[in-house]
Amino acid sequence: KAIAHWFRWDLRIHDNTALHKAHEAAKAAGVPLICLFVFSHEDFRAHLTSPARLDLTLRSLKVLKDDLAKLDIPLWVEEVKQRKHTQDAILNWCQKWGVTELHANMLYEVDELRRDAKLVRAGVEHNLAFNVHHDTCVVEPALLRSGSGKPYAIFTPFFKSWEPYVWKNKILDNLSPAPTKNDAKHNAKETFKELFAQSSLPTLDKEKQLSDKEAQRLAKVWPPGEHEAKARLDTFLNDRIANYADRRDRPDIENGTSALSPHFAAGTLSARQAVRAARDHNKGRSLDAGHHAWIREICFRDFYKHILVVHPHVCMNKAYHEEYHNVRWEYNDDHFKRWTEGKTGYPIVDAAMRQMMANKYVHNRCRMIVASFLCKDLLLDWRKGERFFMENLIDGDFASNNAGWQV
Ligand code: FAD
Repeated sequence: KAIAHWFRWDLRIHDNTALHKAHEAAKAAGVPLICLFVFSHEDFRAHLTSPARLDLTLRSLKVLKDDLAKLDIPLWVEEVKQRKHTQDAILNWCQKWGVTELHANMLYEVDELRRDAKLVRAGVEHNLAFNVHHDTCVVEPALLRSGSGKPYAIFTPFFKSWEPYVWKNKILDNLSPAPTKNDAKHNAKETFKELFAQSSLPTLDKEKQLSDKEAQRLAKVWPPGEHEAKARLDTFLNDRIANYADRRDRPDIENGTSALSPHFAAGTLSARQAVRAARDHNKGRSLDAGHHAWIREICFRDFYKHILVVHPHVCMNKAYHEEYHNVRWEYNDDHFKRWTEGKTGYPIVDAAMRQMMANKYVHNRCRMIVASFLCKDLLLDWRKGERFFMENLIDGDFASNNAGWQV
């Protein structure tokens, strides 16, 4: 018998709620902990996951696999071509390895919630307890309410409630430790030899592949894994956070921001770890402007997940604000193409779109400028821009992207 953790966008071993719960349950039951990642090609196609993000995912999985192997914990990557086979693939895998309890961190997009709910039900028939945990936000979505008891719809009051909630409830004081080594008595290396021996990760579908040259370049720009995320975070705290409040809105300044968004998206860094590190770096004083401004940006990420949970219609190609449902947008293919190629003739717009194509990342101020230019100047449907961002960004995240385009 075994207990398992199913990794999704939480590719780290420190401060990973579900992994920690699985580890504790395994210890209490006296059984080994094993891990799974489901690589579902159809889901990645349906969710427009960019080639750069998938490439980073594969590279992050390698780091994770190695880190877990040092703890005698195997990580198996299950490849699924069609999403309708995901559930059976998971149930079969659990059955094969004697998994009685499976843990995962919750994803709040509608498709994922439906998939998880179905698996909870199917698990009951297959003697598998499937437990899903809140993890990705500092404060779980939809928890905070305004004075009138309603979920917040505007960021500033949300932040005013979020920040004291975080300090008062000491959310950052008990981050989950990494799992410890599987007990030698389980002889995990032998029992799960097949899982440890998996040497190749899935090959991406043709339309999701980067050229070799691009892959090599992006691997240098965006090294994978939680050690790298931690190193980037430390550098940012030591060298740049003090000036963040003044410099974060200046795309002309190199490295004004942390460039940690690909790590938050992959889950190689948790939002809690980031806020805690910023708080501790500030050394117990009341937060100075730079630290405070950065923590506030991380709260934006929480806020947009909260919007997604409270207004799931945003997952269905609908506008967040109902009054914008029936706007008659223009569909000028030439204008759209020139926007995507950075050939509009407006230097800052073009520079931003070329940064997107080169580094698969764009400065926040520039994201705002090009988004505004697409829908308010070119009058094109914002959903085309939203889609293009997802198809290209290495940090593409549904909630932040969708909200960035319209909230
Ligand atoms: P920093 O300034 O160092 O901020 C630290 C972290 O706070 C970021 O990594 C991010 O997790 C969070 N954060 C900062 N600003 C925002 C914000 N406005 N909204 C939500 N979270 C924020 N962010 C994504 O992670 N994925 C996306 O797909 C995405 N699409 C966007 C689309 C549009 C149109 C706009 C306007 C913004 C979008 N953002 C997205 C938000 C923001 O632009 C990026 O998070 C930020 O540029 C990442 O750079 P950084 O890590 O250096 O941020």
